[in-house]
Amino acid sequence: MFNEKAQKMKLDDIRELQEKRLLKQVKYAYENVPMYKKRFKEEGIKPSDIKKLEDARKVPFTVKDDLRDHYPYGILAVPKEKVVRFHASSGTTGTPTVVSYTKKDMDVWGDLMARCYDSAGVEPEYIVQNAYGYGLFTGGLGFHQGAEVMGCAVLPTSTGNTKKQIKMMNDFQTEVLAATPSYAIYLSEAAEKYGFDPLEDFNLKVGMFGAEPWSEEARESIENSLGIKAQDVYGMSELYGPGVAVECPEQNGLHIWSDEFLVETIDPKTGEVLPEGEKGEIVFTMLTREAMPLLRYRTKDVGSVTYEECECGRQHPRIEKIEGRSDDMLIVGGVNVFPSQVEAALLETEGIGEHYQIIVDRDVLDKLYVRAEVDKDHYESSEYDEEKLKKEASENLTAVLNIKARLKLLEPGTLPRTVGKAKRVIDQREEQDRIEEL
Ligand code: ADP
Ligand code: ZN
Repeated sequence: MFNEKAQKMKLDDIRELQEKRLLKQVKYAYENVPMYKKRFKEEGIKPSDIKKLEDARKVPFTVKDDLRDHYPYGILAVPKEKVVRFHASSGTTGTPTVVSYTKKDMDVWGDLMARCYDSAGVEPEYIVQNAYGYGLFTGGLGFHQGAEVMGCAVLPTSTGNTKKQIKMMNDFQTEVLAATPSYAIYLSEAAEKYGFDPLEDFNLKVGMFGAEPWSEEARESIENSLGIKAQDVYGMSELYGPGVAVECPEQNGLHIWSDEFLVETIDPKTGEVLPEGEKGEIVFTMLTREAMPLLRYRTKDVGSVTYEECECGRQHPRIEKIEGRSDDMLIVGGVNVFPSQVEAALLETEGIGEHYQIIVDRDVLDKLYVRAEVDKDHYESSEYDEEKLKKEASENLTAVLNIKARLKLLEPGTLPRTVGKAKRVIDQREEQDRIEEL
């Protein structure tokens, strides 16, 4: 097992180490980042007020705008000469958020990612086909470095060039596919188009899928079509990148590597810390980050954390599969709608494919439109009955959403495909260029 000592730490030991590291890290951040010194003073607290783990809640929060405000060098706690890498968030709006790493940070990140591969069931002799985008996005290089640390061979195919990607998957008989779940779905469809049967021809064993929310239904579909164990990997650029949490073979939540990350769940409105198991905004403190020691970073991701022991023997707490970000949540006619709920309802309907779009529009009232492709095999089969399928899918949508969604079924292959993170939601309530024909 890769870094068994860290992976198999007992909860008591984790907590002891967290406390020791937290106290040190708070002092480090205060002394080396002017923003924190200022903020601590404003709130009237000193690092010495943080005496035990529970005192973490006294520490001020950090938010994404804090990083934006410090563009381009980020919240640096070290002289620029000590930085060995920059990355920037893939965010499409506003100023990018830049993150930085020292040599030591890179080593920690590599170790965390290697643990993720190991926990997900990857063996050192496997070949990892890395179809995450290489570049400013942390996905490509993060999955790359971790695989090497783990001892795997990496095939750095990056995103796109799907035909070549599939040829190499076959020629090299790669065991691991690292990609966004939407690209994995795209690849499995494309494989068939190019005349391959993934179950017969490929040798895939494990999928390392993350960077965007995906449902249990999507997991089942990917596992069946590619013949792999599809594992969920979570992270974000502000917290190194991918590698914060990962599933183990039990697939019952993602273990957070808690010797490096202190996790809290808060009420996003009041900032109050919520009890274990309650759903809220996830907040992380990196316990040893050197270049940018973010304290209590508000992720905007919604989830819940459990400390119950897992069958796999790891005692690192688990976060349930992330449903989405609080800012992904749509409020349609006063009702909260998560895109992941729509996905789950659609995929629950036999005959609906994996590709869909959610459009919110407004005339007098808000309206929710869902456009979903029919599954290719189903579409071509004699069973296909458009009216029946539409009725069934609409009922499933209504059951989870508590609001009427206007569903339109589309022919397979109609919607645009993506090689990175999928863009599935179009909110055109405020926009001028509207898609009129819904
Ligand atoms: P950006 O904010 O530009 O997309 P990142 O690429 O760092 O920057 O994306 C991080 C975000 O991606 C997380 O905050 C989370 O919302 C989402 N994410 C990452 N991994 C997962 C996952 N396994 N499940 C659900 N969402 C994820
Ligand atoms: Zn486990």
